[in-house]
Amino acid sequence: MTTFTTQVAIVGAGIQGCAAARELALRGVDVLVLDSEYAGRHASGVNAGGVRTLGRHIAELPLALASKRLWTRIGELVDDDCGYRQSGQLKIATSAGTFEALRVRSDRIAESGLPHVERLLTPLEVRDLVPAFVGPITGAAYVVDDGSALPFRTTQAFRRKAESLGARFVEGASVHSASRVGGEWRLLTKNGHEIHANQVINCAGAWAASVGSMFGDKLPIQPNGSMQIVTTRLAPFLSPVVSVFGQALSIKQFDNGTVVIGGGHRSPVDLCTARAELTLSGLAQAARQASKFFPILMQATIARCWSGIEGFTPDGLPLIGVGSAPSVVHAAGFSAHGFQLGPAVGVVLADLVTTGNASIQISGLDPRRFRELSSESS
Ligand SMILES: Cc1cc2nc3c(=O)[nH]c(=O)nc-3n(C[C@H](O)[C@H](O)[C@H](O)COP(=O)(O)OP(=O)(O)OC[C@H]3O[C@@H](n4cnc5c(N)ncnc54)[C@H](O)[C@@H]3O)c2cc1C
Repeated sequence: MTTFTTQVAIVGAGIQGCAAARELALRGVDVLVLDSEYAGRHASGVNAGGVRTLGRHIAELPLALASKRLWTRIGELVDDDCGYRQSGQLKIATSAGTFEALRVRSDRIAESGLPHVERLLTPLEVRDLVPAFVGPITGAAYVVDDGSALPFRTTQAFRRKAESLGARFVEGASVHSASRVGGEWRLLTKNGHEIHANQVINCAGAWAASVGSMFGDKLPIQPNGSMQIVTTRLAPFLSPVVSVFGQALSIKQFDNGTVVIGGGHRSPVDLCTARAELTLSGLAQAARQASKFFPILMQATIARCWSGIEGFTPDGLPLIGVGSAPSVVHAAGFSAHGFQLGPAVGVVLADLVTTGNASIQISGLDPRRFRELSSESS
């Protein structure tokens, strides 16, 4: 057993915890990151790597746009390019109704005044951009400078950079209780460590509700598995990341020719064992759907598939903000789209801890939008 004393303890070494650690260490704050397993073991290391502003809810667009600006400097931020590339992201409409929905959204973004453009493409432009797509096309929304990155490499890069700036990481340390003693937090881990911290950030991903309850907060987070398929290599046929409006489908081809198919096929999870199941019917559905729109995929076989554990909120938006107890901040419930947000979430968490105010607009993400946080009030 070891006793650690720190200014800020972060529970969870996913992309959010590692990005916050880097930003805090950069600001000269003493920070200790704890993880039950190891950095990037869960959603942050196994996601599809989509770096997307396309289709984001207006409430999280300011955060996503701030993050995009950071992604374009990723090499400078973490000394690694993280496999980041701006290949564009495209959402294809296959009916008049879905194209109308893309048009309404595009107008709404323009009215919001946010510096973001989802360009509407004609069917001909879509065919030029994605010649391998088969099916009706009524148009698409396109963000030319969206793209993708390598998730595990990115999370590790944030962790390494944070460490190089003085942050400490303790892996294999599952926090199981928190108590307030003499104006500071005392955290205990299952393997017997004791941590004394002035402030705590809850970045525990799908486990954030149970960590939140240690601080008396009831976070509405539902864990779920999200399944992905990777195929064997094919000759290059797809440059942008493509999704289809109204379908649980996202598809991208890497430079090595492999294709990642995902987009929302869920599977059961067990938080106690930290395991997600694969459901063959869901995988078959994803493969069928992908090869319906991209018949070229019939030439490939499935190389591997997996399911990653993620925390979902009732409205699909993250919970970022202070808790009801003193000196506690939560950042969780990223609902399968938190990887892109990571760099900016790091900044916001460091802001909340050091100044109490976020430098990026996050008012629509306040955990209190659902109810009073404290478990005693519900
Ligand atoms: C399959 C899949 C595909 C996805 N695709 C995309 C995508 O293309 N683009 C995108 O933007 N997002 C995507 N996402 C979502 C994205 O991966 C997540 O939103 C993001 O990684 C969440 O990061 P996090 O740091 O909050 O959580 P996590 O990465 O889950 O990290 C939480 C960490 O907390 C630790 N922990 C939990 N409880 C405790 C405890 N009690 N004590 C200590 N440590 C604890 C865990 O071990 C874990 O390492 C995808 C998610 C999945 C699962």
